[in-house]
Amino acid sequence: MKDTNEMEVVFDSRSTNEGFARVTVASFMTQLNPTLEEVSDVKTAVSEAVTNAIIHGYENEVHKIRIVCRTKGHKICIRIEDQGKGIENVQKAMEPLFTTKPELERSGMGFAFMEAFMDKLEVTSKPGKGTTVYMEKIIGKGREAWSTQSL
Ligand code: ATP
Ligand code: MG
Repeated sequence: MKDTNEMEVVFDSRSTNEGFARVTVASFMTQLNPTLEEVSDVKTAVSEAVTNAIIHGYENEVHKIRIVCRTKGHKICIRIEDQGKGIENVQKAMEPLFTTKPELERSGMGFAFMEAFMDKLEVTSKPGKGTTVYMEKIIGKGREAWSTQSL
């Protein structure tokens, strides 16, 4: 398809790889000419999702995390998958301040940040099977001529 580009990375769920994941997605999105703020928003969202996979999905056991990134026109689409323990009630988990790990001083704001910094957030999960976080962000909103055209 015209106007699309895709990359995929699979890496160990070690906290040292959080930075790797963040920078990898950031460097892939440079083709969309993002502002520093847009890059920073995406990095934060990716960090939150990857941290969740490490801490909650795999509970610090080392398994694989997969990130698939695709550009579609001016949009960056990011899928972050783990095959960890999954989430019983996704709707509840996504509420601000909800956390199942208060003892680790988690504030329960990860999904709220992803929602705030991205234009779309969808979470699908199956207990015992794993979790997929899908996010989209439109890059260049309001500053290019194309923004007046339909997306
Ligand atoms: P914070 O992100 O502020 O440190 P948190 O991780 O608990 O705290 P969220 O990121 O909003 O908060 O996640 C809310 C809850 O959803 C988590 O406490 C956890 O129970 C569940 N959760 C999130 N991601 C996953 C995942 N990949 N696998 C299993 N459970 C998850
Ligand atoms: Mg979190």
